[in-house]
Amino acid sequence: MATPQQLQLLAPLSGVLMALDQVPDPVFAGRIIGDGLCIDPTSSTLCAPLAGVVSDVQASGHALTITSDAGVQVLMHIGLDTVNLAGEGFTRRVEAGQRVEAGQALIDFDADYIALHARSLLTLMLVVSGEPFDSLVGSTGWVEVGQPVMDVLVGAAGGEHPAPVPGDAVCSSPINLPNPNGLHARPAAVFAQAAKAFSATIHLHKLQAQANGKSLVAIMALQTAHGDSVQVSAEGEDAEAAVAALTRLLSEGCGEAVTAPAPVEAVAAEMPNILRGVCASPGSALGRVMQIVEASLLVNEFGAAPPIELEALSQALIEADMALQHLRDTASGQAQAEIFKAHQELLADPSLLDQARALIDAGKSAAFAWKTSTDATAAMFRSLGNALLAERAADLDDVGQRVLKLILGVHEQALELPDDTILIADQLTPSQTAGLDTRKVLGFATVGGGATSHVAILARACGLPAICGMPLQMLGLDNGTRVLLDADKGELQLHPDAESIDQLRTRHERQRQRHQQELAQASEAACTRDGQHIEVTANVASQEETAQAMELGASGVGLLRSEFLYLGRQQAPSHDEQVATYSAIARTIGPAHNLVVRTLDVGGDKPLAYVPMDSETNPFLGLRGIRLCLERPQLLREQFRAVLACSELTRLHIMLPMVTNLAELRRARQILEQEARVLGLAHLPKLGIMIEVPAAALMADVLAPHVDFFSIGTNDLTQYTLAMDRDHPRLASQADSFHPSVLRLIAMTVKAAHAHGKWVGVCGAMASERLAVPLLLGLGVDELSVSVPLIPAIKSAVREVNLADCRIIAEQVSNLESAADVREALQQFHGAKVDASSVMEN
Ligand code: PEP
Ligand code: MG
Repeated sequence: MATPQQLQLLAPLSGVLMALDQVPDPVFAGRIIGDGLCIDPTSSTLCAPLAGVVSDVQASGHALTITSDAGVQVLMHIGLDTVNLAGEGFTRRVEAGQRVEAGQALIDFDADYIALHARSLLTLMLVVSGEPFDSLVGSTGWVEVGQPVMDVLVGAAGGEHPAPVPGDAVCSSPINLPNPNGLHARPAAVFAQAAKAFSATIHLHKLQAQANGKSLVAIMALQTAHGDSVQVSAEGEDAEAAVAALTRLLSEGCGEAVTAPAPVEAVAAEMPNILRGVCASPGSALGRVMQIVEASLLVNEFGAAPPIELEALSQALIEADMALQHLRDTASGQAQAEIFKAHQELLADPSLLDQARALIDAGKSAAFAWKTSTDATAAMFRSLGNALLAERAADLDDVGQRVLKLILGVHEQALELPDDTILIADQLTPSQTAGLDTRKVLGFATVGGGATSHVAILARACGLPAICGMPLQMLGLDNGTRVLLDADKGELQLHPDAESIDQLRTRHERQRQRHQQELAQASEAACTRDGQHIEVTANVASQEETAQAMELGASGVGLLRSEFLYLGRQQAPSHDEQVATYSAIARTIGPAHNLVVRTLDVGGDKPLAYVPMDSETNPFLGLRGIRLCLERPQLLREQFRAVLACSELTRLHIMLPMVTNLAELRRARQILEQEARVLGLAHLPKLGIMIEVPAAALMADVLAPHVDFFSIGTNDLTQYTLAMDRDHPRLASQADSFHPSVLRLIAMTVKAAHAHGKWVGVCGAMASERLAVPLLLGLGVDELSVSVPLIPAIKSAVREVNLADCRIIAEQVSNLESAADVREALQQFHGAKVDASSVMEN
């Protein structure tokens, strides 16, 4: 244990001090939450009394906890009963997981509103980790924000936690929380206080997350809400008594007046016949439900001497790295291998390790230290409002669990799965997904995850139908329940009838036959019945994919997403390395076909580790694509230089993403011309832009004279036109590129381009949908750049239609009122329900 040191706390607000015993609330006055001070505030911004990490900030913004590097936890609670204001009157300026400096502004509050609508404005600052302190001010009088008010004796709290006597682990059945605002500070304190009366190690669980049941902050950080299903587990001599007492306490509201929640059976009884989510990987399957429940791991907070705990952590990290290397070496595809490589990089992340080592030095166990540092970092990722980073938090959870199990000596049990399994789970980790036995597992459905998560990418890579964003209710399904997983529709049908099963079988057979036929004709040209030739090219992100695309009949690459070439790299690739990559791709395509290299499209949902950026409130509306590259022109210049080096090897095209203004194109062209001159090139490659911002589509007539081609990025064009986040799991069905507004922008773009003799492609996921083929052709699009596996299917769809008919249907559907109407009209145009299995783009 480290020698005790003093940590000075500053006043978080200006105001009048009041003795804690005077606070009109028995939980605070009785110091059940912790000891500290109370201020009647005259300022209205709560500031950090110490430096550390925000270990919890309540969603309602009325309470926040900071943990210092040495583990001292200080809770600030603004007003009494302010949880009932549900966030009204509070503005959070920091997020959980964020590091803050002493004095930094944390929460702004509207003192007048709170004084009028809550019981009191009295604000508490409490040392909830239990260290003793010396007060530097009296219990009454005036304090100024930032003034030193307490000296806390660091490292003096650990001795109160004797190691539990080993015993059986006991777990309660699920309890639906009756508290109107979940376990906020006061009920959480009552629970933690009651838990401390037992010697057993106690945990409170919500879904995959767990909290030390004796830690008020950990319980608050679970961010529970009314009706949430939680469980208590305990291990030690008095585990059984602890679980019984704490279960009762939870059902009774932990000291709060509550009304009984709906029993679990009632919720289950309301289970509809079809549960809906979002397609993560296309396809369908019939099978029986098997639920994966992650075993809760019991983690002791305090450990042996720091050198012993440090050694335990290092050993676990080495073993985890070896296991990941093995998974990488034996991965069945590149997608899997890349994910395990990214996991290995997380293992070596210096900031994770620094945080864990600091906690071990402060007397914590290796398991506790590692878990705290990975949980805090994952929470920070999730709080940044960036879909991709939030999904990387799932990777961090995965790596975190892997190391934690190794520290605790918990051995992974191989899942014993029956044939025809449809897995259901709150969330699958990328490791679990990559390890699924696809001979037995036919598909899966999860509550968490998004269509762009690594889990979804892996599912697509191994052809497993999958749905994410399912309702929590799904976890109430019994193992063995017969279900039909229709990922194309995002539906899980319970107890399917004979007719649905027959339809599915017929559909599978039809798909199989059609796929074989499409493959057999893949190398033939894509010409409509009336003789219009359409370029069907590929969207790629690597040389391997390019080779695969050319084998499947692509007439070149319509979109090389260059930002994906070096994803996860901490350092920018050298010029030679970039030249080697682009040249290999160019050679694979050859001189007879187009290679369209899109310049780095970093930002938004695609952070690139070696291009650090400030965090943004709205990353999709921030420094993305060409905007970022023009802010850092050296980045663009170096990329141009490397791309130009392969101009002799193929029909080279360069494309700029996210162009909004003509000035951006002019500036980029200037840099390109300078670089081409330095290299002594006689001809410039073709230069085009993506049309993915409505402004660019609306100004297409102004832009067209200055480009060689347009390629429409319907993914972004749709999200910006409809103002719907492209990765939002709840908006996935509405954020549809078939919306007539998007179709009108496409028509406008094509008209402007053709008036100036320029060609137009579509490289968004819409081009990979069979259903969209007659529509896009009818709107006049010249090239479809599609997901690699779908090249044969899209070429075949082109061969099935007449351009003249396509023009008529395109004109008609552009006047309909919704995306759903457009889809329906197109399905009728096909004369039959179109198989939606080609909906997703990898
Ligand atoms: C698009 O926005 O449609 C597109 C092709 O670009 P990305 O999906 O890479 O943003
Ligand atoms: Mg885009």
